[in-house]
Amino acid sequence: MALNTLTIADARAKLAAKEVTSRELTQACLDAIEGASALNAVVTVTAERALDMADAADARIAGGDATAMTGIPLGVKDLFCVEGVRSQAASKILDGFTPPYESTVTANLWSSGAVMLGKLNMDEFGMGSATEYSVYGPTVSPWRAQGSDAKLTAGGSSGGSAAAVAADLCLAATGTDTGGSIRQPAAFTGTVGLRPTYGRCSRWGVIAYASSLDQAGPMTKTVRDAAIMLGAMAGHDEKDSTSADIPVPDFEAALTGDIRGKKIGIPREYRVDGLSDTIAKQWDEGAAMLRDAGAQVVDISLPHTQYALPTYYVIAPAEASSNLSRYDGVRYGHRAKLSAGDGITEMYEKTRAEGFGTEVQRRVMLGAYVLSAGFYDAYYRKAQRVRTLIKRDFETAFADGIDAILTPTTPSRAFALGAAAEMSPVEMYLNDVFTVTLNLAGLPGISVPSGLSADGLPLGLQLIGKPWEEGDLLNTAFALEKAAKFETKAARWW
Ligand code: GLN
Repeated sequence: MALNTLTIADARAKLAAKEVTSRELTQACLDAIEGASALNAVVTVTAERALDMADAADARIAGGDATAMTGIPLGVKDLFCVEGVRSQAASKILDGFTPPYESTVTANLWSSGAVMLGKLNMDEFGMGSATEYSVYGPTVSPWRAQGSDAKLTAGGSSGGSAAAVAADLCLAATGTDTGGSIRQPAAFTGTVGLRPTYGRCSRWGVIAYASSLDQAGPMTKTVRDAAIMLGAMAGHDEKDSTSADIPVPDFEAALTGDIRGKKIGIPREYRVDGLSDTIAKQWDEGAAMLRDAGAQVVDISLPHTQYALPTYYVIAPAEASSNLSRYDGVRYGHRAKLSAGDGITEMYEKTRAEGFGTEVQRRVMLGAYVLSAGFYDAYYRKAQRVRTLIKRDFETAFADGIDAILTPTTPSRAFALGAAAEMSPVEMYLNDVFTVTLNLAGLPGISVPSGLSADGLPLGLQLIGKPWEEGDLLNTAFALEKAAKFETKAARWW
């Protein structure tokens, strides 16, 4: 078995048994990356650093001081600042930005002994659902529909991470999820994506999109790997005031596979108009699998669900317009060439017009509009109120004894590359209909590969859990993964 195709858990076992070295694992991934430029998933390769870190990991393993992640080669979404490595959120405005500091999440991973392979493609600043809005160009999914060689999207915004994991360019990757950017790409690529409870992972050093919604999480080949990797990413951080000061449990120890007596809610409001038969069938089958595993599956109501998408698309752009005001050509990255007579205003205007892509400009304008004095009450304040109601829907369900909620992750299988350009912004935003709700409520959620569409493409189911109970959520996901037996890999064409 090629070493780059291993899971974290299998690689850990082989490293411990001295059957392989981290250098060998790392080299296998670097070779796979080199052969996969057609996917455009990896945008910066840090080969030398990777091999140095692998050697250090091997020495650590030999010294008997390894953690579960020691020697495991990872890819990192371009949204994470990595000291001394270009980190530009796939934006032209951060052209060439090389941070002099390290995000807390990646620092935690490196101190656990994980190995940094490089930076992964994404939608600019995390805004998008197809990884097409990137200064590096689009990521191409390793998957193709049966009998077709049309290029497909790997989802977004963490599409580079999803494609890299699905194509075995790394053992796992980091992602971030503001409105679904870990779970949707995971669903499109047959991988596992976990968005933790808001505050579980530090946001420090992760380039901000919408601060009250952003959260980092693992993108992996299996649920067990998600449990292992989350343990290494999470933890309290004084540098992020919203990071929770609570202990990080052993998530892997929660994976017993026993979900007997658990109460799983099926929210009727997610059966949206036009939900395809394929997705509806997956959902019913997922519910049946959990029932067969001994869970009690019940219908529930989350009455404010229909308002989640519009609420998200007020709050996220509002926070983005504020967060992105710092990119002005003075302190970071790109600055426009100025003409004689241009003053500071022209510098700001030209730099931001050149540096931000169309979608980012749309969000900044939308955000500035909903925050402006005349419209603040009508849009932003209203959205904040509705957000509270959405959160309350979940609280009521959990207070009624629900342990987890099962929904589809996406309304369709992966769409064609380029389709995003043909869609209206609102059609594009509809992709996030099942994922944004839990971001608004600050809850953890996971996408688990559950089956294939009629034309052979992966589909995912989403489980939503109680705050801070990722262990329990992962265990339910583990039971679902076991029952679904999703074992298909993308057939190699690249
Ligand atoms: N597609 C959503 C958006 O564009 C989600 C993005 C994300 O989670 N970063 O806002």
